[in-house]
Amino acid sequence: MCGRRLPFSYTLYIVAALDIRESVPLAPYTTFGIGGPARYFAVAITEADITAAIGWARERNLQIFVLGGGSNLLVRDAGFPGLVLHIALHGIRHQSALFDVAAGESWDDFVDHAVALGMAGIECLAGIPGSVGGTPVQNVGAYGQEVAQTIELVRAFDREAGAFVELNRAQCRFRYRESLFNTDEPNRYIVTRVRFRLYPNGDPSLRYAELQRCFANQPLPSLAAVAATVRELRCGKGMLLVPGDPDCRSAGSFFKNPIIPAQDLQRIAAAAGVASDSVPQWPAADHRVKLPAAWLLERAGFHKGFADGAAGLSSRHTLALINRGEATCADIERLQDHIVAAVQQRFGLKLEREPVLLG
Ligand SMILES: Cc1cc2nc3c(=O)[nH]c(=O)nc-3n(C[C@H](O)[C@H](O)[C@H](O)COP(=O)(O)OP(=O)(O)OC[C@H]3O[C@@H](n4cnc5c(N)ncnc54)[C@H](O)[C@@H]3O)c2cc1C
Repeated sequence: MCGRRLPFSYTLYIVAALDIRESVPLAPYTTFGIGGPARYFAVAITEADITAAIGWARERNLQIFVLGGGSNLLVRDAGFPGLVLHIALHGIRHQSALFDVAAGESWDDFVDHAVALGMAGIECLAGIPGSVGGTPVQNVGAYGQEVAQTIELVRAFDREAGAFVELNRAQCRFRYRESLFNTDEPNRYIVTRVRFRLYPNGDPSLRYAELQRCFANQPLPSLAAVAATVRELRCGKGMLLVPGDPDCRSAGSFFKNPIIPAQDLQRIAAAAGVASDSVPQWPAADHRVKLPAAWLLERAGFHKGFADGAAGLSSRHTLALINRGEATCADIERLQDHIVAAVQQRFGLKLEREPVLLG
């Protein structure tokens, strides 16, 4: 979705070089293809655009929402009554292993760029849609890697301090699908650039069991081979944006994989009617385990291709809620509530939504 042409709307205000438009439909800016209009909408291509937009919104007492690629976003049907600021800063600077990447660059294109240069560290994150600036927000991760492992620094506008700041990895407080930016200080920082430290001529990561199986009994694959295999695996699950594929009108995984104390596994197994050692799990810190939310959904009665009017589940991955055509946000939220209640009833676990809800 990054870098797409703006849908037509008329210019209302011109602030410095910034066009601020009115009543702009947000659905085309999201991978779900759902949601009402932004009252005001502007595209920032420089850091100066960001400060101008903030000043403009402050004078009018308007809220600001920062939009990247719209791939982790569910916009409510009534839209957003403030200013949506779409981050479209571009450029990649690279000095040996350090890459400074502007927030509006496409994440997947950056992965390709790094892989082509023989830089290891993000090859398993191929095929994830959205912008580079969106990746630190929920500490994007897949197939055994997460961006926290390679992010060295995040440059952002701090709306509280009214200045640009640089946050190191520790200050970003990365955890599973979490960071400072989506927990402790939501809406405070507008990311403009991310610095990654990659590994020149490094080996590809094959930590993830599914990837290991793809390359079993083979010599060590190239970074490009691993990235291509990840994309193939993602495509098979409808987790790659492919034009015309109805399974990817989604925000990817809709629920986070819950992390529970290891001693609760027996209770989960009993509720599922299986032995404790057949509950799929990944080890987590502090004597805890991470459970696949998709497994919980399936045992609570939801299957791939499940339909509830215009909302449904992907035919290739239980964890992706999809827009089956003309779904509204209300349709998606109804299905979400239905699933959360069923999993809670069966397992006593409250699933958490992964995408951001706007409006
Ligand atoms: C098919 C599909 C597969 C996916 N697979 C994965 C996966 O494997 N792993 C994974 O972790 N995610 C996955 N996602 C989710 C999504 O792609 C990522 O979370 C992505 O990083 C979101 O970036 P974005 O630019 O699209 O953010 P948006 O959706 O535009 O915004 C999401 C949040 O980030 C904030 N934000 C965005 N840009 C900035 C910025 N510059 N500064 C401050 N805040 C900002 C927004 O305000 C909002 O709160 C998938 C999504 C889809 C549709």
